Amino acid sequence: MVDRVLVTLDGAVRDADAPLLFADDIGVLRGDGVFETVLVRAGNACAIEFHLGRLRRSAQALDLPEPETGKWREAVEIAAKEWGAEREGVLRLVLTRGRDAELPSSRSSVTSGDLAAAVPVPTSYVLVVPVPDRVAKARTEGVSVVTLARGISIDLAQAAPWQLLGAKTLSYATNMAALRFAHRMGADDVIFTSTENRVLEGPRSSVVIVRDKQLITPPAKNGVLPGVTQRALFAEAQKAGWECRYDSLYTADLLTCDSIWLLSSITLAARVNSLDGLRMSAPDNAAEIVELVDRGIERAGAIGDW
Ligand SMILES: *Cc1c(COP(=O)(O)O)cnc(C)c1O
Repeated sequence: MVDRVLVTLDGAVRDADAPLLFADDIGVLRGDGVFETVLVRAGNACAIEFHLGRLRRSAQALDLPEPETGKWREAVEIAAKEWGAEREGVLRLVLTRGRDAELPSSRSSVTSGDLAAAVPVPTSYVLVVPVPDRVAKARTEGVSVVTLARGISIDLAQAAPWQLLGAKTLSYATNMAALRFAHRMGADDVIFTSTENRVLEGPRSSVVIVRDKQLITPPAKNGVLPGVTQRALFAEAQKAGWECRYDSLYTADLLTCDSIWLLSSITLAARVNSLDGLRMSAPDNAAEIVELVDRGIERAGAIGDW
């Protein structure tokens, strides 16, 4: 059984243990690129059209060349097939600005003719790896969470579009640092808050709260990434009679709601079982939320484009 699958956009299955990137790839030098993380389940890339749609929007936000969706889709299909249907996998779409050496601005003497030829070729590939061990436990037992200041206002996304708050960029060093900080505090995960004490998102997940028969998540304009899993849940929950809303949430709402969920493509639904040290017991409808997310991502392909 393979434990790594690497496919480039020409459809070639590469040796995943052989080097692929150049040392001057701008994705490596500056984290200048975008990505998607997709669950492979039963040999299928879940909600892939949503992920391709968001990849396109993220690329647009970074002024990257428009991704060739057909080629990405094909590479994903090849990678998912290679991975097989026996177990789940984490499929990543990675798109960087390409090699620094190919950037016109880095060339000392360019004629206008060279300039046209010097458009950087984006680095693009699809990589599948095993699902991390933490996922099974997060799905069944939930996660302990600490709230951490993100240091931004909910107005920033609109006031400062160069902050790329709605794009899934490769610059995730601070997100990973927040998770390590949480681990040192004995917690599994993080909910970021704004300077106004509004709820934002996790470092790699969307936050959804349950209150009576309502599902509420902060709107993208507050500076959170629009989540594929959250959207899939809303689509499915609406059909099942839930009221689904995008609304600003205060940290106080986290304490008064019935349950808090971190939603993401790989872990899917992780219930917050403790918040800043305060235990949160499972509500009666916890299993229903999990089922709605499962069904949602399986049907997300049929919902349409992002
Ligand atoms: C990926 C990610 C999410 C969750 O999105 P999904 O599409 O559900 O995986 C939420 N917030 C951030 C910051 C993310 O990187």
